[in-house]
Amino acid sequence: QPQSAYEPLSEGSAILLTKKLGLFNETASLECREIGDGNLNYVFHITDSNSRKGIIIKQALPFAKVIGEAWPLTLKRAVIEANALKLFGKLCPEYVPEVYYADEELAITVMEDLSHLTITRTGFIEGESYPLLSRHIGEYMAKTLFHTSDFAIEHGRKKELAVQFSNPELCKITESFVFTDPFFDVESNDFEEELKAEVVLLWNDSELQLEAAKLKKSFITEQEALLHGDLHTGSIFACETETKVIDPEFAFYGPIGFDVGQFFANLLFQAITRKGKDRELMFKHVEVTWDVFTETFRTLWENEGMEAFCKTKGYLDYILQKILEDAFGFAGCELIRRTIGLSHVKDLDGIENTAERIAAKKAALQAGKILIKQRKNKTDISFIINTVKKPA
Ligand code: ADP
Ligand code: MG
Ligand code: MG
Ligand code: MG
Repeated sequence: QPQSAYEPLSEGSAILLTKKLGLFNETASLECREIGDGNLNYVFHITDSNSRKGIIIKQALPFAKVIGEAWPLTLKRAVIEANALKLFGKLCPEYVPEVYYADEELAITVMEDLSHLTITRTGFIEGESYPLLSRHIGEYMAKTLFHTSDFAIEHGRKKELAVQFSNPELCKITESFVFTDPFFDVESNDFEEELKAEVVLLWNDSELQLEAAKLKKSFITEQEALLHGDLHTGSIFACETETKVIDPEFAFYGPIGFDVGQFFANLLFQAITRKGKDRELMFKHVEVTWDVFTETFRTLWENEGMEAFCKTKGYLDYILQKILEDAFGFAGCELIRRTIGLSHVKDLDGIENTAERIAAKKAALQAGKILIKQRKNKTDISFIINTVKKPA
């Protein structure tokens, strides 16, 4: 067997690779900086100091730092990410960075430089509101999810895609750290002593655990559409007018409500930390996301749906209702796991005042519990908003 050509790039070798790819002209004076913020991947930003144009090279690393240990993680996720970006880019070019090149052995994706935009989570924390974000993400989700579902593509093609994007290792991360660990007293959890009483209540809530287990089953078994799989505000670049979704390395065939719910939950983290009009803007984002998602999905269903599904009266309403209930439940899991699980969000952890931070985290836990336990037969988006606005 030939030795793998994989090696982690350095800033120097990233420049050499860029030159070899011919993405800049001969006279370019290239500079490179590693700007990744995670513990899974390198992100190299290469710019031409003459033209100021740039590109991004993202490279998967073979180990992730999970619970302080090196955890081997397949390099194949780089292929998943590149292929998902290309497919989503075809379905929804406005909201996805262009892929210029990908190499399986090096586990790299070379893509459009989005440095003129800001990561939405960061911008939100600094007080930005991104007026078009919910319109754009509602449309992005409807287009990518509808067009990869059985409602839009031929049965055999969908089965092929589900195999191509089976992504078991990254799904396992979600299965453990989103749906399982936060609901039990295990080592991977991470929370302040001040939350201990709340958390113990949660760990003794067998109804909550059962409902979370049902959501986990749905995540594992339901192949409804090709999900982004990690659609939080850290995976979205934005400005006042533009929105781009990056980082689909968790892409796999799963329940549509998972992407929708994860995005909702990350809007709620902001709602929880904001007051007055700024808080209302976040509730509005939740509402508009759902309105635009359903409007766009409905139009696609009527104009481009597979006849075998889309001619049945009442079926679309049934599908949308299922997506909504699922989204509520998945949003609940995201709220809880980002508060007491392994991987937190800066929206909450960044609150410096301890009393305020603890209060915000309790609000997130409370909303999460309500969403998971009471999601069934809720037909209106106001249900999720009220879990934060006026929790029962
Ligand atoms: P990870 O999977 O490790 O979270 P991301 O794809 O989210 O990696 O990228 C990590 C960071 O790298 C982003 O938060 C952003 O700051 C930067 N980045 C990633 N892709 C781009 C891009 N296309 N243009 C500019 N910056 C990017
Ligand atoms: Mg990151
Ligand atoms: Mg990321
Ligand atoms: Mg990622």
